Amino acid sequence: PLYCPLVVDGVEGKASSGRRFKRENPADIRQVGTVAEEGTQADARAAIDAARAAFDTNAGNWIYNYKLREQTLLRTAQLIRANADRLARVVSLEVGMPMRQAVPHVGAAADVFEFYAGLAGKLYGESFTLPSGSMINLVKEPVGVVGMITPWNFPLTQTARKVAPALAAGCTIVIKPASYTPAATYELVKLILETSIPRGVLNLVPGPGNVVGAEIIASKKVDKISFTGETGTGKRIGAQAGMEVKRVSLELGGKAPYVIFDDAEVDAAARAAVFGMFRNAGQACGATTRLLVQEGIHDRFLQRVVQLTQKIEVGPPSRPSTDMGPLISQNQERVVQEFIRYGVDKGFHLVTGGHKLEGDGWDHGYYVEPTIFDHVDNASRLGQEEIFGPVVAVTTFRDEAEAVELANAVDFGLVAGVWSADYPRALRVARRIRAGTVWIWDNYAQPVEGIWGGYKQSGMGRELGYHGLNDFIEIKQIFTDGTGLAMKPPYGQVIKE
Ligand code: NDP
Repeated sequence: PLYCPLVVDGVEGKASSGRRFKRENPADIRQVGTVAEEGTQADARAAIDAARAAFDTNAGNWIYNYKLREQTLLRTAQLIRANADRLARVVSLEVGMPMRQAVPHVGAAADVFEFYAGLAGKLYGESFTLPSGSMINLVKEPVGVVGMITPWNFPLTQTARKVAPALAAGCTIVIKPASYTPAATYELVKLILETSIPRGVLNLVPGPGNVVGAEIIASKKVDKISFTGETGTGKRIGAQAGMEVKRVSLELGGKAPYVIFDDAEVDAAARAAVFGMFRNAGQACGATTRLLVQEGIHDRFLQRVVQLTQKIEVGPPSRPSTDMGPLISQNQERVVQEFIRYGVDKGFHLVTGGHKLEGDGWDHGYYVEPTIFDHVDNASRLGQEEIFGPVVAVTTFRDEAEAVELANAVDFGLVAGVWSADYPRALRVARRIRAGTVWIWDNYAQPVEGIWGGYKQSGMGRELGYHGLNDFIEIKQIFTDGTGLAMKPPYGQVIKE
């Protein structure tokens, strides 16, 4: 099996309790996929202390030596690419992600490190001279010790999107990886530690969210929490961080609408939709979960979507031809099946899929068919709740106003797609949809130069691009007197002499 130790102050170690936890292989639960150290509150404290000390002592001149940070990031990108095959296999094994998706996932993580390497030396501040001759300097400083709590669905890119900008900014870090994917996170951390990163800058503590994660959130020694995960968990973390006025960014759930107008190009729109719907078995915060289709194109579009869906090969992630692997866990499979039962009970039209896959090659994993329901009421649970699985709801609309209304009629606002040959209309709709990203004629592009983050209950803050760096920066004003006066005019309000 894969293994995940603790990494505290540059040293790999075991949990202080002596306990470990196991992670099954989701494609074949007879096998143990990963064994990880089960970090405790004391372990989390030790890692936080190491990160705090590295920051407060400016270990290796980490805060000011941008060249060291730049080299660390660039070297990490090189190491990721050099170890791409192993990383892809680890991700595929832990997540159940088909290799055809795991390989580009690794490349995307390397891209993130390369991009932020380029920004580490460009943290310019601002300077302004007042009429008095006094000067204001606004300098950018790292936010400090960052606690990162990550999910399991894309373990490399999600960790990279936090770690790379935080390192570029000069922060120090404690990561609490998702308990389903500790080894994928460790493999990345291990590569970063092969660079010349100073000891204590990057620490890793696997273990339960409500123990290790809770300690990171509660600790006064942690300046910022960067969390990606479920909206319910994010709300609790945000509330708790708020009590300490701790900086917090939250990347949470989604219920992405994909709006198809009558004049859309059917084949291109259908391919994009199917990709967004079933990539990583729909276990993506930005997955296409609601197809909002104009009445006139409904039949043609859905027919093509179903045709493409029925060709999806569901099977072991390691098989090169597999398009969709298993779900992450028994719990996720139960949730998905409950939603399917709900859709059937509500009388929505089950167009394709709807079953757990059984038989040769499927019996020992959490395999569920790609599933599409038509004529779904957007106000129902299928239209409102994040399923995090391969279940999609189709709803028709009459006109542009209704499309916008339906797209926005959810608590989430992470991403959306618009497909129309009429560009001014597509742009109008893109502006009206309340989501962090709206794609026109695309579905799922996530360039590192852009941003990622949510409106409404999909989160707070932005990852990727320049904005992703700003999430790890504080701005300080340094005021320097330029008058040389011992008795400056305002002092007269207090001093008569
Ligand atoms: P969870 O919220 O269950 O877990 C996320 C992380 O939080 C895990 O590391 C987990 O640890 C930890 N955690 C759980 N409970 C606590 C707690 N009480 N205190 C501190 N930490 C805790 O989410 P999932 O891992 O199930 O991830 C799926 C979710 O992530 C989906 O809702 C998805 O939409 C969202 N997501 C959002 C993205 C975005 O960019 N907006 C991107 C990808 C996913 P442990 O594993 O030990 O339970």
